Amino acid sequence: MSLDHKIAEVRTLLDSVQKDYSPATFANSFGAEDMVLTDLIARHYPGIEMFTLDTGRLPEETYTLMKEVADRYGIRVPVYFPEPAAVEAYVAQNGPNAFYESVDLRKRCCHIRKVEPLKRALSGKRAWITGLRRDQAPTRKNLTESEFDAENGLQKFSPLLDWSESDVWAYLKQFDVPYNALHDKGYTSIGCAPCTRAITRGEDVRAGRWWWEDPAVKECGLHPGKNRGAAKVFATVKDLAVSG
Ligand code: SF4
Repeated sequence: MSLDHKIAEVRTLLDSVQKDYSPATFANSFGAEDMVLTDLIARHYPGIEMFTLDTGRLPEETYTLMKEVADRYGIRVPVYFPEPAAVEAYVAQNGPNAFYESVDLRKRCCHIRKVEPLKRALSGKRAWITGLRRDQAPTRKNLTESEFDAENGLQKFSPLLDWSESDVWAYLKQFDVPYNALHDKGYTSIGCAPCTRAITRGEDVRAGRWWWEDPAVKECGLHPGKNRGAAKVFATVKDLAVSG
């Protein structure tokens, strides 16, 4: 299928989300996939809202891109931060980089800095949109383009689910869309600075995220998908983490 055809399919889906699921919102992480959706939504879908999560541990390059998006599209994407008291208590009890020590501590950090703010951002919405792609991770194989997100109580749309990585980059190039400078330094998937590294040739695209964990279960909790049971079991294994 050509890129034009794939774009047309995404447009059809976004048309129906804007029309039938208002208020709908796009969770924008400013990664490469999300820049495709940023470009489409900012230019064509004024009825679809946007937000981002600032965990407090983002790389500098992501803030630079936020500013570029504001300048390019004339929009300032609303930012949700974690509850300060929860971060303070976690850091006081466990230290600033406890996510390297165990899967449980990593997931608790993600819960405080991502999952709880996400719930606030989605409150009152009928649908949310993500830039997930099926071939990004084993945890994403069984997702569907439209499914009910029982965890958050609203419909969840992933319009790029069957796009390849090269489709994403072809789009960004064709429409001259700004992207995170870390992508040019070997980062394929970008999240918090301490939990993201560049990958080497031949590695899986998500290999740079929580690289000390088992790829079959590593998700931040924003997209628990259908492997949630496995993740819970795995989280009980002690002393899994190696150095970060
Ligand atoms: Fe914390 Fe790392 Fe999760 Fe960011 S990705 S919320 S720093 S554990």
